Amino acid sequence: MMIRENVQKILSELPQGVELVAAAKARLPEEVLEAVKAGVKIVGENYIQEAERAYALVGNRAKWHFIGHLQKNKVKKAAALFDMIETVDSIELAKEIDKRCSQIGKVMPVLIEVNSGREEQKAGVVPEKVESLIREISGLQHIKVMGLMTMGPYSPDPEDSRPYFVETSQVFEKIKKLNLPNTEMKYLSMGMTSSYQIAIAEGANMVRIGTKIFGERS
Ligand SMILES: *Cc1c(COP(=O)(O)O)cnc(C)c1O
Repeated sequence: MMIRENVQKILSELPQGVELVAAAKARLPEEVLEAVKAGVKIVGENYIQEAERAYALVGNRAKWHFIGHLQKNKVKKAAALFDMIETVDSIELAKEIDKRCSQIGKVMPVLIEVNSGREEQKAGVVPEKVESLIREISGLQHIKVMGLMTMGPYSPDPEDSRPYFVETSQVFEKIKKLNLPNTEMKYLSMGMTSSYQIAIAEGANMVRIGTKIFGERS
């Protein structure tokens, strides 16, 4: 397996202060464990069921980030399992997370997912609505906003992602300066296998990498 070599190469090349999230969708629990043994500290999961299977093998050897689209009826499980939810994009979802976390005595760190491409069908809040959503969430006791996440529109040329990363980064810096209560703008999660170097150049300090660790998804 190349997973070990891939992880070690990526980790050795990432600038100091940039966190690697291994995007594990469609991978076997054994592959996720291999990545963790090679030095991955955070696993990103898109689906609750896959996360449960991987967690059963890997457990607390890694932190677990939810990076998929979270349905309301899955929040209870997500609240128990994850260390961070990177994809909060509505006050309704935030309130549900807050409610479930209050029941288990937990404060959930979350990122706000930004729909930086302003794409109709895509998850996330458009850049100009991020601040008002964070202000609403800051009143909740069991959820804490810790930054922003974005995907950007898909393009075969990663350079096309740059303007979306730039805009998300600007929103991040602006909100950081506001020092909102119960909010700590610490993480900017942007960039995937093809685009993470560009994302880092534009301010990302968390990158979500799947293919470059595990190989092409079948
Ligand atoms: C799959 C996925 C990634 C990683 O994509 P790769 O191109 O395989 O690196 C990153 N973020 C999210 C939200 C994903 O679903």
